[in-house]
Amino acid sequence: MSVTTRPDLVSLPGYKPGRSIPGAIKLASNEVPGGPLPSVLSAIADAAAQANRYPDSGAWTLVNRLSEKLGVPADRIAVGCGSVSLCQQLVQSLCEPGDEVLFAWRSFEAYPITTQVANARVVTAPLDASHTHDLGALLAAVTPRTKVLYVCNPNNPTGTVLHREALREFLSKVPPHVLVVLDEAYFEFVTDPEVPDGMEFAREFPNVAVLRTFSKAYGLAGLRVGYAVAPEDVVVALRKVFTPFSVNAVAQAAAVASLDAEDELLARCTEITAERDRVRAALVELGYEIPETQANFVWFPLGERTVEFAEFMLDRKLVVRPFAGEGARVTIGTPSENDTFLDAARAFRDA
Ligand SMILES: *Cc1c(COP(=O)(O)O)cnc(C)c1O
Repeated sequence: MSVTTRPDLVSLPGYKPGRSIPGAIKLASNEVPGGPLPSVLSAIADAAAQANRYPDSGAWTLVNRLSEKLGVPADRIAVGCGSVSLCQQLVQSLCEPGDEVLFAWRSFEAYPITTQVANARVVTAPLDASHTHDLGALLAAVTPRTKVLYVCNPNNPTGTVLHREALREFLSKVPPHVLVVLDEAYFEFVTDPEVPDGMEFAREFPNVAVLRTFSKAYGLAGLRVGYAVAPEDVVVALRKVFTPFSVNAVAQAAAVASLDAEDELLARCTEITAERDRVRAALVELGYEIPETQANFVWFPLGERTVEFAEFMLDRKLVVRPFAGEGARVTIGTPSENDTFLDAARAFRDA
């Protein structure tokens, strides 16, 4: 008998990362354009010098810093090798085979993949006509087997948001056996005061968790560290299914140094959000339909023209993120990169 792998994995699409093409402007992965600050680089170098040692598997220095910053007890915080890893750990922690993970679609690509890898069932509810979460549709899709319900706020890839009162009302209606996971990967780019800080709800509701990451606003996508704030018993389970030592020592040191340099990093985010608003306004002026965005990217709901758009951009050495038949997501870069993109968007419109 030969070796066999799980048949369900055959049909599972692999995660498609944004493409990196030498010499091209990469606006495909929602990274920030700036590299690590000097203080963060120096913490990285110091940690690298001790690479012969295993990392602190509990990442306690980082967990305690997050606990102070967020005002939540350390036993409600779990770190992961990026929040993508925490998505998989959440499903592994809550779902038995056949249990359901519910989310809006389109949303973050890792949700269906990590769900299926962890042997749970994907259930989706469509976004509404304004590319925003349809909370009524999500509620209607909850069943006794729903264990995890993701709400990505702002939503990747559309950039749209849910406001405080709508979300609170929704949370009060979700049955208590469902863990609502507020994925706030783009939280630091939010400028709309009506968008809540998920921590409010994590304190208020016993079935709410929040996911955050150092990959986006903090600029550490290459080092892989994110965290969850969750109910205590969920955190216990998340730590059990954690791949030991998977948040490496360099990542931990860089994350702590980034918290030390938070003001400087958040000032960089302010430049990005100003650019975001400038780019969206210019695109709307060009005649594109671009949903209002609170993240560091814009969404082009181009439908059947999506691939053509992405290829047009690629010919001009601009890498965007197409979702064939639906739309393209374009990350905000430096002002000059954004100008190059806007010129290309004008050319596409006129082509
Ligand atoms: C980028 C992103 C993440 C974070 O991924 P990491 O694994 O932390 O790099 C999580 N959720 C969403 C919606 C994202 O877009």
